[in-house]
Amino acid sequence: MNPDVELVVLDLAGTTVRDDGAVEAAFAAALTAVDVPAGSAQWRRAQAYIRDTMGTAKIVVFRALFPGDRAEQANRVFEEAFAERAIAVAEPVPGAEEAIRALRDQGRRVCLSTGFSAATRDALLDRLEWTDVADLVLCPDDAGRGRPFPDLVLTAALRLRVSDVRAVAVAGDTGFDMLTGRRAGASVVAGVLTGAHDAATLTAHGATHVLDSVAQLPALLGTR
Ligand SMILES: [Mg+2]
Repeated sequence: MNPDVELVVLDLAGTTVRDDGAVEAAFAAALTAVDVPAGSAQWRRAQAYIRDTMGTAKIVVFRALFPGDRAEQANRVFEEAFAERAIAVAEPVPGAEEAIRALRDQGRRVCLSTGFSAATRDALLDRLEWTDVADLVLCPDDAGRGRPFPDLVLTAALRLRVSDVRAVAVAGDTGFDMLTGRRAGASVVAGVLTGAHDAATLTAHGATHVLDSVAQLPALLGTR
């Protein structure tokens, strides 16, 4: 039998934060900056790749798409465009902040995790006034490899001193979030339908549960 969940690792964009298309718009700005013609076959291929790998570290996505300096340039433009737009439009997913508080009131620790850079993460949390909503916030700058590697979840498990990797629940909106949770040994890997991917994709990547929203997570886990 799995131990009770002590730690919940929640994704930001698409899971706890609505960015109103800021991620997609920032990727478009980045492709334009490295001279990919809008609407071209290369543009469509890049967008499909970006969509399929949503949730991983952005710099890894750009390195896979563009050799050398273009990846760094694309990433810089992405970060700038996203930070600018997200600061203007990001809002919590309805019920997300209440869910985080409910999970902590249940005696669980909560880590927010993201594939953004540390600077973008901080801008987003400032905008939401979420600088101390969770016990910990991690991005790939803090914790080695981004998704779908298990580093973010395992780092949270170590830093927040869980007794067993199975005492971890992970929630996210992408296939890579699900794969990350599975690879880290989490016993609950919940996909949410407020973001990038549909139920079939989340399930195919290992979701143990599919929820309409992160707001349903405290009820799923129950009281301790
Ligand atoms: Mg996400």
